[in-house]
Amino acid sequence: MKHPLTISRWTAIATNDQSKDGLFFYGVTTTKIFCKPSCHSKIPNKENIVIFKTTAEALSANFRPCKRCQPTGSTPNRLWIEQIKQYLENNFQHELTLNTIAEDCHGSVSNLQRTFKKNTGISPTNYLVKIRLTHSQELLKNSGYPIKTIANREAAEKL
Ligand SMILES: [Zn+2]
Repeated sequence: MKHPLTISRWTAIATNDQSKDGLFFYGVTTTKIFCKPSCHSKIPNKENIVIFKTTAEALSANFRPCKRCQPTGSTPNRLWIEQIKQYLENNFQHELTLNTIAEDCHGSVSNLQRTFKKNTGISPTNYLVKIRLTHSQELLKNSGYPIKTIANREAAEKL
């Protein structure tokens, strides 16, 4: 299974972006070592990078965990959930499917659903509905628009 080295992944690797830890790992084919995005090891050549979504994937491809960033040593689920929540808050006005959420948050659909529900008690789609409802209620309270306008607006936003 191959995952693309997207621009955002490459940027995360090149800038040692800690906020992307847990979302993916990268291996370097010349060393057969894999790292977290935040690892401060030497930035590899783009063409030598392999992307993994889980440490298990990296291990099964015969890559060894980096001693420096210890990609197998932590449990980043809570961090990931925070990132997903933030993503939903920022993007609730767009048409979002489980697929797009999983893709943008660098996880599989099944892992997204399972981990999110386990950590928050509700599914990602229900969480999204809650955000949208809260937003509509605030509009109702604060905007003075008639309910029909807001309903139309919500509908228009989903087009
Ligand atoms: Zn490392």
